[in-house]
Amino acid sequence: MCLTCGCGADDVRVSLQDPHHHEHGPAHPHDHRADRETLVLEERLLAKNDHLAEHVRAFLAVRRMAAVNLMSSPGSGKTSLLERTIADLDGDRRIYVVEGDQETAFDADRITRAGARAVQVNTGSGCHLDADMVGRSLHALDPEPGSLLFVENVGNLVCPALFDIGEHARVVVISVTEGDDKPLKYPTMFAAADLVVVNKIDLLPHVDFDLPRLHEQARSLNRDVTVLPLSVRTGERVRDWYAWLGALTAQLEELEEGEPHGAAVGP
Ligand code: MG
Repeated sequence: MCLTCGCGADDVRVSLQDPHHHEHGPAHPHDHRADRETLVLEERLLAKNDHLAEHVRAFLAVRRMAAVNLMSSPGSGKTSLLERTIADLDGDRRIYVVEGDQETAFDADRITRAGARAVQVNTGSGCHLDADMVGRSLHALDPEPGSLLFVENVGNLVCPALFDIGEHARVVVISVTEGDDKPLKYPTMFAAADLVVVNKIDLLPHVDFDLPRLHEQARSLNRDVTVLPLSVRTGERVRDWYAWLGALTAQLEELEEGEPHGAAVGP
């Protein structure tokens, strides 16, 4: 198990796809006691994170804010999507961004130039953001009530899916240059998503990307997920993204009238 992030190696399987391969027993005896110890550590780490995520949710509820967790591989266009969103929506509703990367403040600089207040979290060797990092970022941002928070998670399709950061919705961004087989390769990420944004559809004529196949795979893991193809570069269908965000914030406002919006929701 990776103790930095708590992602498990307990169920890792290494399968050789070799027609000449014959089954043999394990080369080394396996230490099950070490397995149990790592499992207990993992459970403690995730329980602590869940507790801190409740604090984040409480902070957001008091300020009547909506929070969206953006997850993807590096290079899918998360930061570009946020730059465009800030340019188009910031007049309607104040936007704040938490940027997660292992190193550099490149993305927070881009967000700031686009006109929104941003915090950059550098995780060093870590591969995800957790609720503690988001909580500390929120205190630094001091966002105004009724605003919208985007958390751009560290770029990978594995560890960010395991950590509740107190968000109201989880968005997975993939681009058509990455291939249409990602949902079945990274099922945890897609099973937990409220929305899958498929970016760079302006490149579809130049790549082998089967949009219906992507839809089918995503829905086989997550029946209610919405799949939204768009192009940040050309602006094609970005209005659908804004409509989805509008539906999310409207749903949270409706919930506020009844009860604090603690539960994760998706439009
Ligand atoms: Mg980025």
